[in-house]
Parts: sequence; structure tokens; C-alpha cells
Amino acid sequence: MKPVDFELHRPATTAEAVALLAEHAPEAKVLAGGQSLLPLLNFRLARPEHLVDLGRIAALAELRRTRDELVVGAMVRQARAERSPAVAADAPLLAAAFPNIAHPPIRNRGTVGGSLAHADPAAELPAVARALDAVLVAAGPAGRREIAARDFFQANLMTVLEADELLVEIRFPRAAPGTGASFQEVGRRSGDFALVGVAAQVTVRDGVVEEARVCVTGVAPTPHRAAEAEEPLTGRPLTEARLAAAADALRAAIDPSGDLHAPGEYRRDVAGTLAVRAVAQAHRRATEHAAAAA
Ligand SMILES: Cc1cc2nc3c(=O)[nH]c(=O)nc-3n(C[C@H](O)[C@H](O)[C@H](O)COP(=O)(O)OP(=O)(O)OC[C@H]3O[C@@H](n4cnc5c(N)ncnc54)[C@H](O)[C@@H]3O)c2cc1C
Repeated sequence: MKPVDFELHRPATTAEAVALLAEHAPEAKVLAGGQSLLPLLNFRLARPEHLVDLGRIAALAELRRTRDELVVGAMVRQARAERSPAVAADAPLLAAAFPNIAHPPIRNRGTVGGSLAHADPAAELPAVARALDAVLVAAGPAGRREIAARDFFQANLMTVLEADELLVEIRFPRAAPGTGASFQEVGRRSGDFALVGVAAQVTVRDGVVEEARVCVTGVAPTPHRAAEAEEPLTGRPLTEARLAAAADALRAAIDPSGDLHAPGEYRRDVAGTLAVRAVAQAHRRATEHAAAAA
């Protein structure tokens, strides 16, 4: 099928884009990489009268470091961030997530901000943002506002962004020395959306897990930050018993629903198994990183 007719706007600045949204919302939609929106238009599941294409706004495609943060513009393409040495060094969990997203041609077009704004419950990047306590910056007619990742995702495909707001950048805290990360997922075929995915980042100091961050995708309408799994891992050396306790705590805390792809019980069980794998790999990488830095 073909989309219904729409007017395409191609602003050159964020201010112009915000003004266009303010003028045309709620009949306007933002176009980023188009990898989720264009299929929705083609199937006529979305029928906006105006599309505001962010592709010409250079400021939204910046990737920079501050003293404490890695700042990723909303229009940074997933493939570019995947290859970025700054992302690998400062946000290893973000780097670990990208190869799990779809296929390279989709990541060539798809953007970091587009994936977060789309808020698919099985997507990888919302889980990463939630695990790292990223800050999402929105721009609207009233100016800019910062939104904590824990407040950003509201429901299946729903965020707190207003119809006249734009996601402009995402701020990730820079990883401390001795940090390692891993993203583990299970899907039916390579490149499919995950049935379940686990994001884990671990910081090790003197053989002790100083910090563990775990977030699960595919088990709830929004990413599940697994504080119950982080707690038994933190402040102690990692052991198999503690990994198993973390996995059990996670399985007890979630209640995934089933669908035609997998029953809820399967998702619950797999989430625990993937958490063990992700934390163990993140811990190995953290230990190597700490040894290399010593
Ligand atoms: C075959 C296939 C497989 C895929 N597999 C996966 C997968 O495994 N994991 C995964 O995470 N994704 C997957 N995707 C989706 C892909 O990652 C998309 O790139 C992503 O979901 C949307 O990013 P985009 O830049 O293409 O956004 P678009 O499609 O342009 O936009 C998506 C939505 O977000 C809104 N939006 C975009 N940018 C902004 C912004 N800056 N501010 C406010 N609103 C905005 C749009 O209005 C729209 O509603 C897949 C897509 C396809 C086609």
C-alpha cells in the first residue's frame, strides 16, 4: 500500500522543526530514519498530514563528549554510533546493543533518537537508556526539558514526548574505569526483534562488583530495570551462586504476557538465563578492562 497524502517539511534548524510541529501538531509527525514510521505510513496505520523530516538538521547529528557524559544527537544513525570509538569507550553497553538491532541496512538509516522515541517494548536502545539512567532532552515551544529515562517510557509505543516536542539529544554517563557490558537476546531469526533481551553493565574494583546495572526488554510494555537482580550482585565478588540468585530474583519480579511469538513463561525463564550470560560476560570484560588500566 501507499501512504495517504502528506506535506513534507525539511527544516534546517531545530528551532524551525519545533515551530513546524507547533503549527501542525497533532496532525504532524517527525520523520527520522523512517525505518519504523515508513512501514506504518505504508500500511496506513499512521496518517499524518505533515511530516517534519529532521535529516537536514546538522546539530541533531552531533556526537560529543563532555567531562562526565557522552552526548548523542537524536539523529545520529545507529550504524555510525555502532562504529564510534567514543561510544565503545564511554558507553560500552550502547555499543554492545547495536549489533542486535535489525540488519546493517536498517541501522544505516535508523537513528538513536528514533528508536527511543518509537519506544517499541522489544527494542534494545530503550533498555540501554534505562540501564544507564540516560537523560533524554526534548525541545518544544516552551523550550528544552530534560527527562530521566525512567520517566520517558510510558507504555507500549508511548513516551512522555508531547505531539509538539522533539527529542534532540540523549546524555549517557561516561563509563568508569573497570567497566564492561554485554547485551544478550533471543529472537526467532537473526535480525528479528528480540523475544527477550538483557542489557548488563558491570563495574569492578579490586575484584568486587562496585556497580551492576541490568535492564530487560521484551517482558513488559516498557523496559524492566531489574533492581532486584542488581542488588545481590553489588558490593561483593561475583560468584555463580550470586548470579543464580540474581536470575531467580529477576524471574520472580517479572510477569511477561504471552503472544503468538512466545508464551509468558518462556520469556520469564529466558530472561533469567540471559541475565546470567549478560552479567557474566559484562563482568569478564570489566575485569579485563580493570587489568588493562592497572
Ligand atoms: C525489518 C526491521 C527490523 C527491525 N528490527 C529492530 C530490532 O531488532 N530492534 C529495534 O530496536 N528496532 C528494530 N527496527 C526498528 C529500527 O531500529 C528503527 O530504526 C527505529 O525503531 C526507529 O528509528 P528511525 O530513526 O528509523 O525512526 P522513524 O521510523 O523515522 O520514527 C519512528 C517514530 O519515532 C518518532 N521520532 C523519530 N525521531 C524522533 C525525534 N527525534 N523526536 C520525536 N519523535 C521522533 C517518529 O515520529 C515515529 O513516530 C527494525 C525495523 C525494521 C524495518
